[in-house]
Amino acid sequence: MNDMTLAREGLEHLKALLAFDTTNPPGNEMPAAEYLQKALQAEGFEPVLIESADKRGNLVARLKGDGSEKPLLLLSHLDVVPAQAENWDLPPFAAEEKDGYLYGRGALDMKQMTAMSLMALLSAKRKGLKLKRDIIFAAVADEEAGGKLGAEYLVENNPELIEAEFALCEMGGFRLDVRGHTFFPVQVAERGCAWCKVQFLGEPGHGSIPNPDSAVSKMTRALTRLEKKGLPLHPTDIVREFISSVAAKQKTHVRTAMKALLSPLTSRMALSRLEKEQARVFYAQLHSTAVPTILRAGDKQNVIPGQADVVLDGRVLPGQTWESFKKELQHVLGREAQIELIKWAEPLVYSADTPLFDVIRRVVIERVPEAEVVPYLLTGFTDAKHLDKLGIVTYGFSPMNNDPDEKFSRLVHGHNERIGIDAFSWGVETLTEVVERFCSVPSSAKAVDSLMEEMLEPERAGNASGSKEKDPTLPDGLAAEPPDAED
Ligand SMILES: [Zn+2]
Repeated sequence: MNDMTLAREGLEHLKALLAFDTTNPPGNEMPAAEYLQKALQAEGFEPVLIESADKRGNLVARLKGDGSEKPLLLLSHLDVVPAQAENWDLPPFAAEEKDGYLYGRGALDMKQMTAMSLMALLSAKRKGLKLKRDIIFAAVADEEAGGKLGAEYLVENNPELIEAEFALCEMGGFRLDVRGHTFFPVQVAERGCAWCKVQFLGEPGHGSIPNPDSAVSKMTRALTRLEKKGLPLHPTDIVREFISSVAAKQKTHVRTAMKALLSPLTSRMALSRLEKEQARVFYAQLHSTAVPTILRAGDKQNVIPGQADVVLDGRVLPGQTWESFKKELQHVLGREAQIELIKWAEPLVYSADTPLFDVIRRVVIERVPEAEVVPYLLTGFTDAKHLDKLGIVTYGFSPMNNDPDEKFSRLVHGHNERIGIDAFSWGVETLTEVVERFCSVPSSAKAVDSLMEEMLEPERAGNASGSKEKDPTLPDGLAAEPPDAED
């Protein structure tokens, strides 16, 4: 079966998956999970269907290897966030095509990965590949509500089904063009979560006489400081490397401006010169943040309340603890703020110096020779948090050769979520190639080839730059420069 057919077949599965309304809440992923169960059974698999709660379906299937290496898990979630149909050009659950795009809630987050992973699994089985590690396919429920009935449920109740050395999941592998240079960021880290409640107390009183020491006044002043000042700059290694890799390809003035993001003296100014949306993303990559999401105070028009509460959506960078984050927050909010933790999840960071990352880099560059594959930090969190409890190294890699101008990140959770059909087809082929190369026992001819390749380009292993051998057409001026010594 050739790749075009595989991609087209993947597209049919994606359409079928998009047509199931798996809006969470309530989720109702079972029919979609049953659809996958049938598709897999038809090809000789024995998938396991797990109902974590009423109609909450999780499906796991496995293609056995020889066991000489630990499994690779392909994890995607079947639930989606709500869609307001009245704001869409095409209905969110009809899976209709328009102008080369397939529309549907979940087209990017993340039923596309379910369909791609399915095709990678089916392809490996149809080819009868000799595998050194099992390939595990898992399509789970409930990610958009935190994963309690999905990935977390499997980790706690059926770990033997998904235990693996590595996992590929969402939020990476897309195309990002920065001033004419192409990058494919692959998520290797994500910020942790520190949701907290902050309480302010003050003298209650009559609403006819203003009181600057009231609980509400204290809270508004503290939140204004938080808004203006923010939390301190922490350029983590991963963000340093990302910015340096992107900057290395730019003209001198752009490179200088990008490097300025990393210094406490110049970071603010450098951020203010970026395009607004980019600045917001870079800010969140360089700082822990705390965003007010719920405010509560008072219950009567003419009574100044004695208490004001705010819930902050706190997100912490790798390297920080609850204590260090709380200290920074307390400093900005002031001594009177009583900070109490609601939910904590550790930040994650994995090395990009692994055989899997190396295969990803090689496969992407073979397909897009002018591109560079860069490790990157996700500002939000994914099911990787749960997999981490089993010691699984998770990368965000749901590959897609999207049109770099389409600003697809706005479509994730937004109106008119859609995926370019060519971008998706590229993703099916790329993921399939990565999975096959990483999991199969190389034929002896191939093994010699790749050994030769490694001997010819030793710098490629563990180094993001240096794509010259792969692309003789790349003009010298565009070749990657080695990162500066200080990085
Ligand atoms: Zn998602």
